[in-house]
Parts: sequence; C-alpha cells; structure tokens
Amino acid sequence: MKQYINPSIAGREPSATLAINEQANRLKAAGQTIYKFGLGQSPFPVVSPVVEALKANAKQKDYLPVTGLPALCEAVAAYYHRTQGLDYKAENIMIGPGSKELMFILQLAYKGRLLLPAPSWVSYGPQAEIIGRQVQWLPTRAADGWRLTPETLDVHCSREPDQPRLLILNYPNNPTGVSYTTDQLRALAGVARRYRILLLSDEIYGELDFSGRHHSIARYYPEGTIVSGGLSKWCGAGGWRLGTFAFPPELDAVRKAMAVVASETFTSTAAPIQYAAVRAFKGGDAIDLYLKQSRFILKNLADWIQGRLTTAGILTARPDGAFYMFPDFSPFKSVFAKRGIGNAGELCDRLITETGVALLPGTDFGRAGDEWLLRMAFVDFDGAAALRALQGHSLNSSLSTDFLYSHFEHVVQGVDKICAWVTA
Ligand code: PMP
Repeated sequence: MKQYINPSIAGREPSATLAINEQANRLKAAGQTIYKFGLGQSPFPVVSPVVEALKANAKQKDYLPVTGLPALCEAVAAYYHRTQGLDYKAENIMIGPGSKELMFILQLAYKGRLLLPAPSWVSYGPQAEIIGRQVQWLPTRAADGWRLTPETLDVHCSREPDQPRLLILNYPNNPTGVSYTTDQLRALAGVARRYRILLLSDEIYGELDFSGRHHSIARYYPEGTIVSGGLSKWCGAGGWRLGTFAFPPELDAVRKAMAVVASETFTSTAAPIQYAAVRAFKGGDAIDLYLKQSRFILKNLADWIQGRLTTAGILTARPDGAFYMFPDFSPFKSVFAKRGIGNAGELCDRLITETGVALLPGTDFGRAGDEWLLRMAFVDFDGAAALRALQGHSLNSSLSTDFLYSHFEHVVQGVDKICAWVTA
C-alpha cells in the first residue's frame, strides 16, 4: 500500500510534540518518573463559567454555519474591539476546529510561498510541505531573542519583490516565549505592507503575555493581517478544538476560499463548544481573575527557571509570555562531545533516558542540530491545584522558592535535574 501514499506525506512522522508526549507516557507507564516538558498543553483547567456554558449547551445538536455560530462571531469581533481596539464585524470572523486546522486550510487556499522565522512552531512548515508549498526559513539571532527583524524580512523580500508570500508571525512565541514591542511590530508591519505580504498573526498566546498588555500587529497593518486565536491556551481548552481567524474586509476573498474548503471538509465546528465559546469571549470578572492568576503563575515560573538555568550556565532569552523557553546548551558542547552526544536530538534522547526530562530539539522548530537549542514547555503541574493555592496570595509580590517547590514540584525538580545533569 505504501506506494500509493501521497509522496508529500509518505515518510513523514506524526507531529513532534504529539510523538514526545506518547514517548513520555510510555516511559511513565513503565514506571520511570517523567518530567513532561514536551507537549505544550495549558496546565490550567477550563475556566468555570465556560464549563457551565458547555453543560448548559450539551443539547445543541444542529450543524452550524460553516464559518461559525453568528453569536460567537459577534462575541469574537467584540472581544478584539475591547482588547485591541480592532474593528471587525461578525462576518469578518471564521471559527474552526482548532486554529491549526484553519492554518492548514489557509495554506491550501492561498497560493504563495510560506515565510517562517526560525525558530517557529512545529506544524506550520509540515502543513505547507504536505500541500506542496515551499517553505522559506528566515534567520533570527539569539541576541534579538530569536525575533524576526524588519531588516531580515526586507532583505529577503527585496530579492523578488513581487512574489506572493504568507508570513506567519507568532507572539508570545512558541518555542521561545518572547514577544515583540509595539515599535518592533510597527517596523515589521511597514515591511509587510511594502511587499504586500499576507500576514498571519498567530496570537494564540496573546492573553498569556505576562504583562496583560498584548498588542496585535493588525493595529499597524490591518489590511494585510489575519489574526489567529482560539480557546486552546488562555482558556485551558486545547481538547475542545476551537480556533478563530479574524480577517480585514480587504482579505474577504481569502476567507471565502477557506469557507469553500471548510464546507467540503469539517462542515462546521462542534455546536456545544461554539455556544460555550461565546461565554469565553464575552469575558468578565471571573475570567479576568483567572487570566491574571494564570499569567502570574507562569511569569513566576519563567523567572525562577531562567534564574536557575542561568546559574547553571545555560543561556535563555527572557520570555514575555506563554509557557515556553528555548534554552541554548551550546556552552556545554565539549561536555556533550565527551559523552558521545552529537546533536540536539541526541541530547533530548539522553536527557529523557538519563533524567526523565522530556524536551524537544530545536530542529523540530527549524534550527540546526549543532546549535544545541531545546524547547522546554514548563507545564508539568496541576493548574487547578496551583490556582487554589494562590487564593489569598497577593499578585503584587513574587512567589517564594518554597511556594514553587511545594506547588510546582515537577517543574522545579525537572529543571534541577537538567542543570545537575549537564554540569555533572
Ligand atoms: N499556534 C501555536 C503557536 C501553537 O503552539 C498551537 C498549539 N500548540 C497552535 C497554534 C494550535 O492550536 P489549536 O489548534 O489548538 O488552536
């Protein structure tokens, strides 16, 4: 049968993040203690008013419009108005079964080259390759916190200025946790406008910017930007599978083309989930508090981990949001050479077998294996218990090391294990 598999899919492995999760589960089932820093899943429970809304809507059974439940599209448009000052109408919004699926059908619908800053999230590139599109990786530097610079984008585009291109920009970023300042976004927007780039701004971690003041690049390049979001990260509902795209009227042809593909494939997103999502996007005090607490916990963990890694001599860019870091182990490359470890992938294999810590190599995110970059998703904790423990704790003073050791045991132990192992 193998010979009949589409050549753009044959030989590929399932998504790296899902594979590491399965490996970690297997080792755990065999009795090994595993620190699960591989799959980037929100550790927090779905916020309770949204759970209640799902219960209340369990009986919703009809197929919904292909681009989404009108009340949800309205709630998403109102959400972007409230949080970003962006003016969308309900008809500018598209709902899908996860933003990942929307990204795939965007790539199917739009005929252009895909530009990705290296590093970028694991699935954008494989999606393009499955469809048979070319991927162009754009270099970034540690000194810039792995951010794409306007200069790099300009130099790349100026070589073939009329080439149609889709650029996916993600911030706060997976795998690095870093975001962009408003000046950086403005400058990138200027270059994108100059070359009429179709910009997909993946802001799925926007609500998890530690400052609570995430900015969308759509403010500076509204006519060419599609904003991607959803419930998976800030609402703790990855398994519910609900993603959103917001389009400017100028890109309505893209939205319509995507709707054609959606109508011939998934038809519409699960009805009860869409009704519950209306509650999520309406927001309110309970959701605001949940978000403040989630950001506070993540920021405190990120600060602690960064301090710990730095003390051990491992380099990391300071994260601005989400639950990722992209540590650079290159100061230890001669140690690794002595231990017979030849690249970042082998480093991951040795770490999981010798310490139980599951991480992903930078190669899954578009970096070279000899750069010694690994992605850490510091999500191995019980988010519900952590939120309970935080009750009564001021959000103005940092969490003590004792608090972190008692409520985020696996995260701190896992990080300690990495540090002890590399410095041994
Ligand atoms: N973008 C980024 C950067 C992600 O990390 C993820 C999930 N890991 C997604 C998009 C996809 O999210 P979903 O399909 O659950 O909306």
